[in-house]
Amino acid sequence: MTIVITGATGQLGRQVVEQLLARGVDPSTIVAGGRNEEALGELAAHGVRTARIDYSDPSTLEDAFAGAEKVLLISASEVGKRSVQHKAVIDAVRKVDAALVYTSAPKASTSALVLAPEHKATEGLLEGSGLTYTVLRNNWYTENYDDTIRQAESTGTILTSAGSGRVASATRRDYAEAAAVVLLSDDYAGEILELGGDEPWDVDELAAAVSAVAGNNVTVNQVGTDEHVAALKGFGLDEGTAKFVAALDANIADGLLAESDHTLSRIIGRPTTPLKQYVGEFLGR
Ligand code: NDP
Repeated sequence: MTIVITGATGQLGRQVVEQLLARGVDPSTIVAGGRNEEALGELAAHGVRTARIDYSDPSTLEDAFAGAEKVLLISASEVGKRSVQHKAVIDAVRKVDAALVYTSAPKASTSALVLAPEHKATEGLLEGSGLTYTVLRNNWYTENYDDTIRQAESTGTILTSAGSGRVASATRRDYAEAAAVVLLSDDYAGEILELGGDEPWDVDELAAAVSAVAGNNVTVNQVGTDEHVAALKGFGLDEGTAKFVAALDANIADGLLAESDHTLSRIIGRPTTPLKQYVGEFLGR
């Protein structure tokens, strides 16, 4: 069986390749795709095949997918261009009739999450594609908070407009393991899987985790959305990025990332990585 991983040059995709290899998959049956040539070279050093994949260049998709039985489409990273790019991937997968696995967002088809519309559009395309597919609705990466954790360690404060909203985050490693399990099984065909961490947390718990690990007293500075945007601009973010970050916090405050039904830990056969454990590993304590 040949498995193609798109976005394999990125942080999640690289770990999916590693997880497939850790499960004994023959490296010659894995095609790791992406645009970054240096990262493709690093992947080739693991013995896997590599392919230039550019979602905006259909010829690269057709070449990479030739002979594939399974394709993992890792969602693209340029917000606003993704529906078109994902459509190109789905069209190319249809030509080889492979099974497709797609990384989406929590409750993408109904959520008010600012990132949901492109995922909803892609899931709609999959539904009408005639393909066998599985959707991995990944919640937040715990790694999204790396900068926050570092700042909390060094300044003792966390600035947020997320209120008491909870985040069912898990690590990229947790999600990568799930993707590998799903790719190596036919049991998940047709399923839409809501994947998140076992223990959703709020920003007070993040502050407590950093305090416990770093030995300082981290306080939380809760502000409104407008004040958050102004503060982020003061830190050097452009207006669009500042508004985007604050909009995500507003989504969290509204509870849009709060739910976990333990599907991720069931798939990977172990609990997801707890927040405090992650903070400890990240800060090297
Ligand atoms: P990275 O930014 O580390 O990697 C993104 C990957 O997507 C890279 O391999 C990149 O390839 C590839 N890619 C992007 N655009 C294209 C394109 N036009 N054609 C081909 N490949 C493309 O992200 P992560 O690995 O951390 O996350 C994977 C995806 O998950 C993101 O792309 C995003 O959609 C989503 N995401 C989810 C988050 C969450 O918290 N759940 C947070 C952030 C992102 P290359 O580098 O070779 O160009």
